[in-house]
Amino acid sequence: MSSIISHRVTNLEPSQSLVMAQRFQEMRQKGVDVVSFTLGEPDFATPNHIKDAICKAVHSDYSHYGPVAGLQSVRETISRYLLKEKHIAYAPNELILSVGAKQSICNSILALVNSGDEVIIPTPCWVSYSEMVKLAEGTPVFVKTCAETGYKLQAGELEDAITDRTKLLILCSPNNPTGSIYSASELGELVRVLERHPNMFVISDEVYAEINYIGGAPSLTEFASIQGRLIYIDSASKTYAMPGYRIGWMASKNKELIDACLTLQGQYNTCACLVSQKAAETACGGKQDCVELMRKGFTKRRELMCELASDIPNIRFAKPDGAFYLFPDVSAYYGDAIHNSDDMANYLLETAHVAVMAGSAYGEDNCIRISFSMPEDIIKKGMQRIKDALMRLKK
Ligand code: PLP
Repeated sequence: MSSIISHRVTNLEPSQSLVMAQRFQEMRQKGVDVVSFTLGEPDFATPNHIKDAICKAVHSDYSHYGPVAGLQSVRETISRYLLKEKHIAYAPNELILSVGAKQSICNSILALVNSGDEVIIPTPCWVSYSEMVKLAEGTPVFVKTCAETGYKLQAGELEDAITDRTKLLILCSPNNPTGSIYSASELGELVRVLERHPNMFVISDEVYAEINYIGGAPSLTEFASIQGRLIYIDSASKTYAMPGYRIGWMASKNKELIDACLTLQGQYNTCACLVSQKAAETACGGKQDCVELMRKGFTKRRELMCELASDIPNIRFAKPDGAFYLFPDVSAYYGDAIHNSDDMANYLLETAHVAVMAGSAYGEDNCIRISFSMPEDIIKKGMQRIKDALMRLKK
């Protein structure tokens, strides 16, 4: 019998992270002591001054509809914040606040991509890009990157993937799941390719930019030649540990695109939650000590995670430059019992009671994604379990 649900939706894959989170919860409810390394958000509490700001906004009656692009004062604050903290220059009318960065990415894709248009997505990549492209009836064109180049798209690979149907490239740096950060010169090489293809747009997803361990994350906004076709994506979610407030933003110098995204957002969402916008205004407009504090916390956990992972024979990984994930290649343990990353994730969950994300969800079946967004004692406990489980496989 044919489904009552549209092809638009039946074509989409369910989010693997949500599926894993559900399995983990079910085991926990049965009383199993499971360690979850699947968390894709900071585990730190939202800083108090941000919580106070949302309470104040509630009592100041920010409870009506607002402008589609976001409150003027909030966009002005974010515009100043981008300039001061990141040297990125966008005027308030070049910014649109949305329900997380996720909505901004989806708005941009829906506004740009026609049926049959190709969108280049380097893998490993975040799980939602391809599904959003499918929603727009576009064709995701995956370009597999490799560990030897830090899972970073090379200029030649980009050039080879471009056809006369290519509309868009989606780049993510710092990257989820690999933790790689493109250097300014690596970005420059990609920009030189883009200069040869003036009809192509680029989404630069920089939501993890503030969680970096190398003194900064270069941005595609630094390259003047592509500004008219660049969509810059940022979010309060990871930077300020407030993903549940659901505030992200896009910025673009392209007025036609901004207007199209406003039409789209105006029709299906109206505006991002106003009290959350006020909280983001406080986050971006205030002191940035909380960001530094969290970065320090993540730095310690990253060191610990890498030290423990180095102690496991036959896994290969690069120390992540940013974000809070380790993305080790565990394929040396594939064999009769375990054939791929899904088997590995199942094995670790069933036998070691550790939940990790299978690399297949991100387009790299040799790897698993291990989040280190949790306290150090949990990292130690979970990594010991993984080590024991892998050693049993090698008996
Ligand atoms: N981009 C990447 C690479 C992500 O990992 C996420 C969330 O996990 C997002 C965008 C969306 O972030 P949000 O919608 O919470 O701002």
